[in-house]
Amino acid sequence: MSPIRKCSRNRCQNPAVATMTYGYDEATAVIGPLAPVPQAGALDLCKDHANSVTVPVGWQMVRLQTDFEDAPPSPDDLMALADAIRETSQRDVPPPQPAQREIRRPTADVNRRPHTRPHFTVIPGGDNDDDPAE
Ligand SMILES: [Zn+2]
Repeated sequence: MSPIRKCSRNRCQNPAVATMTYGYDEATAVIGPLAPVPQAGALDLCKDHANSVTVPVGWQMVRLQTDFEDAPPSPDDLMALADAIRETSQRDVPPPQPAQREIRRPTADVNRRPHTRPHFTVIPGGDNDDDPAE
């Protein structure tokens, strides 16, 4: 099964980018983003058909989205990608190395001279006759 869904319209080979669902009770067709998986009773539409599809008279059309993303890569592109991944994964991979344990100290810490205490000088005080506490 191809992961790429095609437009449900007759003879349309374009990849589907939108899903149209029907609410028969409300006579409403809703066009929205492509459903992740094909929905029973829903139509997958390509960009062109999603923008040009019409509903029967008396029905209402609800467009949840009018600007559809481009279709995903084609199966050929995906195969090329898969080949590239396979090729890369077969290359010799060096065995894992234990992480290097490295202790780093801020260079400022290493280069700075040892912290020196500030010098305090004791100044002998004399009697102060003006101080009322004495
Ligand atoms: Zn189409």
